[in-house]
Amino acid sequence: MRVRFAPSPTGQLHVGNARTALFNWLLARGAGGTFILRIEDTDFARSTKEAAQSALEDMRWLGLNWNEGVDTGGEYGPYFQSERLHIYRAHAVELMSRGLAYRCFCSEEQLEMERYHTLRAGQPPKYGGRCRDIPKDEARRRIENGEPAVIRFRIPPDRDVVFTDVVRGEVRFNTEVIGDPVLLRSDGVPAYNFAVVVDDALMAITHVIRGEDHVSNTPRQLLLYEAFGWTPPLFAHVSMVLGPDHSKLSKRHGATSVSEFRERGYLPEALANYLALLGWSPGEGEELLPLEELARRFRLEDVGRSAGVFDVEKLAWVNRHYLKAADPARLAGLCLPFLQREGWALQPGEADRMYLESVVPLAAASVDRLDQVPARLRFLFDYSASRALEDAVIRAEAIAVRPVLDALASELEGRPPLIDREAFRAMAARVREKTGQKGKALFHPIRLALTGEAEGLELDLAVPAIERGAMLASSGMVRVPSAAERAGLFLAAVDGP
Ligand code: GLU
Repeated sequence: MRVRFAPSPTGQLHVGNARTALFNWLLARGAGGTFILRIEDTDFARSTKEAAQSALEDMRWLGLNWNEGVDTGGEYGPYFQSERLHIYRAHAVELMSRGLAYRCFCSEEQLEMERYHTLRAGQPPKYGGRCRDIPKDEARRRIENGEPAVIRFRIPPDRDVVFTDVVRGEVRFNTEVIGDPVLLRSDGVPAYNFAVVVDDALMAITHVIRGEDHVSNTPRQLLLYEAFGWTPPLFAHVSMVLGPDHSKLSKRHGATSVSEFRERGYLPEALANYLALLGWSPGEGEELLPLEELARRFRLEDVGRSAGVFDVEKLAWVNRHYLKAADPARLAGLCLPFLQREGWALQPGEADRMYLESVVPLAAASVDRLDQVPARLRFLFDYSASRALEDAVIRAEAIAVRPVLDALASELEGRPPLIDREAFRAMAARVREKTGQKGKALFHPIRLALTGEAEGLELDLAVPAIERGAMLASSGMVRVPSAAERAGLFLAAVDGP
């Protein structure tokens, strides 16, 4: 089995295309086949090197490594279509020599007029065939005179082209609706439908899995296979990925590209796992599985026909699962850019990194995405009593619970840091004894004073995190004030203007 993913590098890799890539990967991986990555960059006006590079990066990030193709190499290269122009030309010439293709000299203006008139007559626009019967000698003479020409494929009249799509079942088109398609433009650049057939055939592709937006291209491609005498691959056209309003997932629904999801702090294994669930199911109640296991279970026949509606809530659920399972050092590393953006951890040293490894997982346990981690760690790196007290409700509460705040400050003053939950609990018990307050009346004022926030992480985790942060002697991180300092700062701010 040989399958391929063949993105056109005209922009960021869309999650819908990533899902197509993933289905190809799962199929090949599960069957011990070869997964090939080819770049379809013949639209020179819109293709860029950067987009090709970022597609490769996104693929690697998702864990969709390819056995053969761009960068990796292989026996069927080159794998950039822009490096295969001579191959397309040779094949177009072959079809012409067999009378299956012909030169067309129609100008853009002529074609435009023709389109206009057919549309006005209420018919689908289709090439009318003006150059179909130009004798070969005449065509040759006109070419020698420097007249520009494209090469068109001769579509056989009134034939049903039928194929069995693995996902969609029998698909049938009559050739009457298909005008003779351009194979090669006058500048020698191939049209998609031609290049894709030449490449898939020469690269010995056995299964073509792609978006259903290509279904209507398939009859043209099948006729080309036939013209060359090649055996066509199996086709599976998977449904599009839609937004919640059932239109194609696009910018106005929010993030659409793999890189945007990465920047928001979704883990690659979460995005890949989620994409696999769009239109396919590994089994009832068994949705959260690593790629290798998904590959083991994947069957192309089980991919549904109905469109996959992208569900951000479900993606968040999958991401939370993987965030909880992730290695602390990895999480800390992934969060570093977000913390750096806040100016909190500009050049962390060894001890700082260990500290981050201990606190980032605490925050990551309660977020959907890593870009939400800074908000959960603000209490450590950006403590501000006066900011907390700007809130009138908090200020009123702080004034009312003054005895707890006083007791807290004196219990912390000159004592060893509360580096674990037992130490914190013992301290809280002493404040309770002194003030007679308990439960929320005890812990909420402590939370306000020590974190500067009305809610957040459990205090017996948060306070040791504060104290361990305060012990770091680092210039690569912002300073974390200790619990004792915070209690003093808070009281001063309550008393202050
Ligand atoms: N370059 C085409 C696309 O990105 C590939 C389609 C195909 O797989 O044949 O849509």
